[in-house]
Amino acid sequence: MNLYKQLLTENDCYKAGRTIVPKGVMVHSTGANNPWVCRYVPGNDALGYNTGGNHWNRAGFSKCVHAFVGKLADGTVGTVQTLPWTMRGWHAGGAANNTHIGFEICEDGLEDSGYFQTVYREAVELTAFLCREYALDPGADGVVICHSEGYKRGVASNHADVMHWFPMHGKTMDDFRADVARALEGEEKVTYEEWKAYMERYRRELAGQEPTMPELVADAAAMGLTDGTRPRDLVTREECAVMARAAAKTPR
Ligand SMILES: [Zn+2]
Repeated sequence: MNLYKQLLTENDCYKAGRTIVPKGVMVHSTGANNPWVCRYVPGNDALGYNTGGNHWNRAGFSKCVHAFVGKLADGTVGTVQTLPWTMRGWHAGGAANNTHIGFEICEDGLEDSGYFQTVYREAVELTAFLCREYALDPGADGVVICHSEGYKRGVASNHADVMHWFPMHGKTMDDFRADVARALEGEEKVTYEEWKAYMERYRRELAGQEPTMPELVADAAAMGLTDGTRPRDLVTREECAVMARAAAKTPR
């Protein structure tokens, strides 16, 4: 999970300031094709900036959730917490507001399997984190539910999320609950595709780090041995060969 925090303190829900003792987690999806979290929060360098003035940190809104899962400024997926977890949210349109933490997964066009797998995983990790935090059993009846399940149980308004989306990618809420339970047990299995995504993310993180030996890197760049970029990233055999070749050609 890649968790950020930007509380929507201007939202009327936040200002109402009521609290709950979390008894469950309700999963929502936004119902609009916009995968960027900065559609819903004012944003910052990490989250991206809302430029449409249509974020939820405003008065006059009748809804507010505890978090959004979606794309960050750099295009990777993360979570932004928007209400304290124990504040009563306005997400369910029913009694679940008194018991459940509610978060939204930002929808894209619904058909991109790569995006779905990534936000699904993030949502699993977020829910597992909340279950651990509030000692919730994701397998117990009514604890981890989506909005449409809440409607069937009489604790939420008549919305279809997330069952208009998850089944398109072969997932049910039972799968989701099982994945949350596995994550809690620490037995989550990382697929090869997920591992590759993690590896890419890890390399991007490394590449963004400052050199620990800046003078030597600058010296090597001045000698034409390296272009000096991505100083903390991993090196390939190809890059090694090119650098060795440049060193061999350097006049002594
Ligand atoms: Zn919903």
